[in-house]
Amino acid sequence: MDDRQFRNAMGKFVTGVTVIVTEVDGVEHGMTANAFMSVSLDPNLVVISLAEKAQMLGKIKRSKTFTVNILADNQQELSMVFAGQKKEQQEVVFDRLDGKPVIPGAVAQIACEVSVEHVEGDHTLIIGKVTDIHLEESEPLIFYSGRYRSLSEAQPVIV
Ligand code: FAD
Repeated sequence: MDDRQFRNAMGKFVTGVTVIVTEVDGVEHGMTANAFMSVSLDPNLVVISLAEKAQMLGKIKRSKTFTVNILADNQQELSMVFAGQKKEQQEVVFDRLDGKPVIPGAVAQIACEVSVEHVEGDHTLIIGKVTDIHLEESEPLIFYSGRYRSLSEAQPVIV
């Protein structure tokens, strides 16, 4: 088994796409991430997994807060901006939820305070305690096998 096979296997797990946002010294920083899941209902906890080399990691360690923004299917460009896949810098205007920066138009905006950090291999798992949530009635952006997709292209399973 090699790393490529591991990546290919992980890519077979269908996910949404989030942008994690934090703020340090009044400057917002965003990063695209799909390593996100809920952890606990009581209390409401979520987890994100950040690469050791990600700028975001040091910033969240300082701010102790972050938001998870589940992107809508018309926000692929924002995913590319915050994954560093666009050549030109783009100006992004943020809204606020519980005083924290969030992405306008996201399907879900989830505000968190850092509860625990756990280093594992070349990533750090950050568990966040959810402090507020805002939801929109729109369809999510999908990521599968290294490609962006939309729910509308998926065929419903007939049983
Ligand atoms: P940078 O690379 O410096 O920033 C990322 C980009 O966001 C830069 O282009 C920067 O200009 C832009 N940006 C940041 N803040 C702003 C702002 N305020 N206004 C405008 N532009 C801004 N990595 C992980 O560690 N975990 C994951 O779960 C993960 N999942 C991913 C899922 C997908 C679908 C993709 C495409 C990538 C994923 N990545 C993940 C990789 C990660 O998104 C990139 O490595 C990213 O570049 C790391 O960001 P950084 O914090 O190091 O900051």
